[in-house]
Amino acid sequence: MKGCKIEWVAELARIRGMDSKSWNPVIGCSRASEGCRNCYAAATVDRFARKDGTGAYAGLTERDGDGVPRFNGKIDFSEARLMEPLKWRKPAVVFVGDMADLFHPNVTDEMLDRIFAVMALRPDCLFLVLTKRPERMREYLVKQCKAHNIADCAGNISGQRLSFKLDGFPLPNVWFGVTAESQVAADERVPHLLATPAVRRFVSAEPMLGAINITPYIGHNAHHCRCGWHKTELDGSWFAGKFTCHKCGDACSTYDALDWVICGGESGPNARPMHPDWARSLRDQCAAAGAKFFFKPWGEWTPHTPVAGGDLGGDVRAGRVQIVHQTGQSDVEISIATGGRSTIPGSRYMARVGKKAAGRLLDGIEHNEVPT
Ligand code: SF4
Repeated sequence: MKGCKIEWVAELARIRGMDSKSWNPVIGCSRASEGCRNCYAAATVDRFARKDGTGAYAGLTERDGDGVPRFNGKIDFSEARLMEPLKWRKPAVVFVGDMADLFHPNVTDEMLDRIFAVMALRPDCLFLVLTKRPERMREYLVKQCKAHNIADCAGNISGQRLSFKLDGFPLPNVWFGVTAESQVAADERVPHLLATPAVRRFVSAEPMLGAINITPYIGHNAHHCRCGWHKTELDGSWFAGKFTCHKCGDACSTYDALDWVICGGESGPNARPMHPDWARSLRDQCAAAGAKFFFKPWGEWTPHTPVAGGDLGGDVRAGRVQIVHQTGQSDVEISIATGGRSTIPGSRYMARVGKKAAGRLLDGIEHNEVPT
């Protein structure tokens, strides 16, 4: 078990005075969308498997046409890893499954019951679950029987079947998030997240591959009726649905909004650059709606200002500088033909400097907001 290096997990742990950890009861996955193309977890598992060909990591990855490791859909579920949180002496903020997607179709409901049971048995820990498959997450968690299944599993695990009771459902110590690398991904995934029983919900726009209008999904009570009756009666409720308010007659819904937006760029040898305006826009939308905003590292690429007398054309040809448009497409051919200059308004130069040098400053400021 290692400390979790993910910046927003570490920041939550720091603020709460807790350890930060990653927990992987399940290892393995398969690609869900464009954001998976350079999956860090697949590369890590592939590397471990090459070192130790017979362990938990073996047989879970393959290479695609250009040699990039990818998960092949096989899953390794380990009882020993499942039980790890029950042995921790100190409470922790825990990222669940940094080498998997918990709601991958090959992770069975029975596995999920046991995983959530372990989380229920550590109410002093805060578990963060991030998925690209929120439809299944929603389906799993809205099944009314799930609270009972989880309670039964927790009772079986702890040996206190009769006396164990869940604190509440949704579990108060589990926050749920979706990855949304683009507007399409956000529009597909966030509605499922908002309809999932949860005490806190977040979006991770990483690697950010396009501009995202997140405003429809942030801002508490944005969907409540004029008279506020639903707000009064249902705030804090997990239930999501559409109603006609029987007091004021408004069509309204009880969707809770996002609490937290995280964004960042891509790392690794094949990393794609992010347009700075995409991150600025998320920052500004969160500020306007009162949602928390956390800026992760830029990734491999950072904003670049060409210097007079420099060799911009050479930098572009050598792949040290790329031009990113608002739409996300890079016009390397055009820019080489024009000596490095972009012909498209709103495009920005990004230079490949490496993750460490790129850092985490957005317009000179580190954004570290987390929900309380
Ligand atoms: S869902 Fe996550 S773990 Fe699975 S392939 Fe995509 S990026 Fe990797």
